[in-house]
Amino acid sequence: MDIIQLLPDNIANQIAAGEVIQRPASAVKELMENAVDAGATEIQLIISDAGKASIQVIDNGKGMSGTDARMSFERHATSKIKQIDDLFHIKTMGFRGEALASIAAVSQVELKTRRREDELGVCIEIENSVVLKQEPCAASYGTSICMKNLFFSVPARRNFLKSNNAEMRHIVDEFIHVAMAFPDIFFSMTSNGQEVFHLEAGNLKQRVLQVLGNNYASKLVSLKEQTDYMNIYGFIGKPETARKTRGDQYFFVNSRYIRSAYLNHAVTNAFEDLLPKDSFPSYVLFMDLDPSQIDINVHPTKQEIKFEDEKIVYAFVQAAVKHALAQFSISPSLDFTLNAGIQSLDSISKPFTSDQKEAASSSSLYKTFTQKNQAHFIEPNEKSELKHWKEFFTAPKNEEENYPVKTGNNLDLHQTAAKKKIIDIAEDALFLQLHNTYIIASTNTGFILLHQQLAHERILYEKYSRSIHNHQSTTQKSLFPVTVELNLADAVLLTELLPDLHLLGFEVEAFGQNSFVIQGTPADILPGNEKHAIELLIEQFKHFSSDMKFSQREKLIRCMSRQQAIKAGQSLTRKEMQLLIEELFNCDAPNTTATGNPTYMEFKEDYLMKLFGR
Ligand code: ADP
Ligand code: MG
Repeated sequence: MDIIQLLPDNIANQIAAGEVIQRPASAVKELMENAVDAGATEIQLIISDAGKASIQVIDNGKGMSGTDARMSFERHATSKIKQIDDLFHIKTMGFRGEALASIAAVSQVELKTRRREDELGVCIEIENSVVLKQEPCAASYGTSICMKNLFFSVPARRNFLKSNNAEMRHIVDEFIHVAMAFPDIFFSMTSNGQEVFHLEAGNLKQRVLQVLGNNYASKLVSLKEQTDYMNIYGFIGKPETARKTRGDQYFFVNSRYIRSAYLNHAVTNAFEDLLPKDSFPSYVLFMDLDPSQIDINVHPTKQEIKFEDEKIVYAFVQAAVKHALAQFSISPSLDFTLNAGIQSLDSISKPFTSDQKEAASSSSLYKTFTQKNQAHFIEPNEKSELKHWKEFFTAPKNEEENYPVKTGNNLDLHQTAAKKKIIDIAEDALFLQLHNTYIIASTNTGFILLHQQLAHERILYEKYSRSIHNHQSTTQKSLFPVTVELNLADAVLLTELLPDLHLLGFEVEAFGQNSFVIQGTPADILPGNEKHAIELLIEQFKHFSSDMKFSQREKLIRCMSRQQAIKAGQSLTRKEMQLLIEELFNCDAPNTTATGNPTYMEFKEDYLMKLFGR
């Protein structure tokens, strides 16, 4: 008997929905983008229960005819492309015709829409991909679409949704991404009856300030470079604000918000030494380039895109940021020839044909330009450099590897314990600190060379893991409770982190809108540093948060241990060195940091002898 069958439409749609609609925020993004594509000048987002109960988007765009309204819920139904070639000239946010079909497959949808030229609009109710009702109705022009009870038909997926705070934070992010890219559209967002955003149409700077907060007003440097290949414009935060800004970082390509660790590196690099250590620049950067130079069809929610020529984009972004910093005399020692160099690149002075592109990239000018700034990974084999920027994003496949105890799986623990080396450090061992970074300690059979910061990161990583997992943290009460004020997105994030922060030893309480009071901190945090510690934590956490591999706790633990570790450059007493080494070898996995860097190396006598050919 043959066994293959075609899936019924509603099941096929539900499966497809898994890609496009992962959580309420994905629906928010799709619906808002549809409103933008429809040419709306006013877009309202109304949600309740963090989008779990309902998500409604009302726009004053061009609306749909009755037939189109019905068609819009079919899979692969789109008005935005007609043939495959169109894919390379996309000017709209959508084009796959999947969003509404997916939404209708996993929620209960009510659509009301009317075109300006029609007297009556149309109202459609659809659930489980089945149309329950379609009839003419009175409606204001534009479209209102309301989806209720997301995943009601797929309980397994509904159970995967996170806390309201967590889902809310994703929604705020998506809202901001769309609102930031279209400053000439009015946006509002209402959550459980309260208006959280009210963004009047204006220019880009006004929109950026509306979203990031007015305290940025005097702290933004505007950036604008036009070339034949691409235009870059937007704002970068002045370096002195980097620490406080908790890394508000936004890239948009052809009005589409994207994530790119690679381009983030270009910006960070352009700041070079201008940024205080451990701080992140803030930026809102828009890049417009010929749609044929990018592929937006590589990611289900289009958050990652592929550039035809990534290196050139990297070079331009970095140069543009450098130029902006120089123009505003933020970086007095800047190399002005750099800009001249870029200006005379073929890619800028002439239309960009592929021949010219090749000529430009092999010209000595291009090479000096790229080499002078070093971090352009022109050669694919420069792995060592790549490692640096990837460090934060890549980690061992299995987080359990690093800290077997928390799995409660004794087998793991024993295996690691068996692998663990016993290093004998005598009471009267020699300790030597080099460059305030490395520690040499004599052992009975040679010596070990330690990196003080990495070693301490390992120690803290295990300590914080233990206190979170065993609920045994110690808190030191602040003498004077400190208040922190955050922007909305960060406040939502912090609220979500509170329970885990509590387990780490923080005593933080919400205090009015977007404010928090710090009553106590883990004992390692120096008095007076409470506020900074929290701000830094949020900042670092956000950098991590795109990484799906790790749980929230794991991310927190990693951020905390990085943040609190003794830094390279700090001088240590003999006692401190001894303690550090003792604690390191008390760890379950002393050899590496959580991210996999070695913490120490051992040099044994026989190896030393071999080194010297004896
Ligand atoms: P896509 O946006 O990829 O085309 P969607 O499933 O999101 O696919 O939408 C399908 C079609 O429905 C769109 O191509 C558009 O013609 C129509 N549509 C969706 N939302 C709106 C809206 N708010 N106003 C007008 N037309 C809309
Ligand atoms: Mg769409």
